[in-house]
Amino acid sequence: MSKKILVLPGDGIGPEIVAEAVKVLANLRDAHDLDIDLDEALVGGAAIDATGGPLPEATLELAKEADAILLGAVGGPKWEPLDISIRPEKGLLGLRSELNLFANLRPAILYPQLAGASSLKADLVAGLDIMIVRELTGGIYFGQPRGIRELDGGERQGFNTLVYSESEIDRIARVAFDIAKKRGGRLCSVDKANVLETTELWREVVTAIGADDYPDVELTHMYVDNAAMQLVKWPKQFDVIVTTNMFGDILSDCAAMLTGSIGMLPSASLDERGKGMYEPIHGSAPDIAGKGSANPLATVLSVAMLLRYSLDEPEMADRIEAAVDRVLDEGLRTADIMSDGMTEVSCEAMGDAVVAALS
Ligand code: NAD
Repeated sequence: MSKKILVLPGDGIGPEIVAEAVKVLANLRDAHDLDIDLDEALVGGAAIDATGGPLPEATLELAKEADAILLGAVGGPKWEPLDISIRPEKGLLGLRSELNLFANLRPAILYPQLAGASSLKADLVAGLDIMIVRELTGGIYFGQPRGIRELDGGERQGFNTLVYSESEIDRIARVAFDIAKKRGGRLCSVDKANVLETTELWREVVTAIGADDYPDVELTHMYVDNAAMQLVKWPKQFDVIVTTNMFGDILSDCAAMLTGSIGMLPSASLDERGKGMYEPIHGSAPDIAGKGSANPLATVLSVAMLLRYSLDEPEMADRIEAAVDRVLDEGLRTADIMSDGMTEVSCEAMGDAVVAALS
């Protein structure tokens, strides 16, 4: 049976970059027998304009039926005056929680052709290939109680709650161990077990799973402050990192920036059965929307992750990654990754070049 892919272009550069990624999918379907059905729906600001809300019921239904979702980006200045509860970003958070996408996979890969784009010395980052596995639906971002309250003396106090149950830790740890097993066989669990009881439990559970079920994966533990330092000191020491929602939020942005190119990095958010939503790590880039200059490669590489993790088509995924490698070898660059001696191309021309390189 054909696999259903729901495409959600979103806002800003979303429609431009997604159009190029869809060209890649359509080429694999038409020329390489990939058995997929593509559907499209509204999310974010585009959905607010058309329906009054960022996540229409019709979109949610299609998302639930799909085998995988490809998202561009949401948000932009047009919708910033709206109340936070109905802003475009709520559409994204709604999809993550409704679909129970608890595992966020954020690779930080530096193509050797782009080593000069990093703010770190080229030899520290050339060939960098880290996978950060971030818990996405629990922890302090969701814990109750939360809020701002007034103390007896009239002073206001903000409070949030960091909670993780054993089952929440268990399922994210297993995702990370499985990925480590398929990669370099090394997993670093990042916590703050010296200060926070929640992450003391995190360390205990991860350690037990490692010993019982993944003796072949080399497990290490690191405090989050040290992990931040090690990421910029010697990033290539890491293979797979697993961590909580908030630590992962911060560390994955730090790791992404080691590569110097926000336009190159894909991500995946998976549920327990491997269904997932795939998107570039960047936002809707309103400053360049409509100019045709956005880099579509993060979205194209998100398609590769979609094929690998949700459609079980690793060869198709390899084919896309090899095509991206080839266009970079050919010297083609969008503005964000442009350097001396290379050829600057538009978003559309980059998409066309990837499609041409597929065959
Ligand atoms: P951003 O990632 O959109 O842009 C940051 C900078 O990177 C900008 O200068 C932009 O031009 C550049 N950039 C981003 N993607 C690029 C690409 N593919 N090619 C070339 N350059 C690229 O972050 P921001 O400016 O902080 O946010 C803009 C809007 O996007 C906001 O409304 C924000 O809420 C939203 N946002 C959405 C998501 C998402 O949909 N997942 C994520 C982050 C931000």
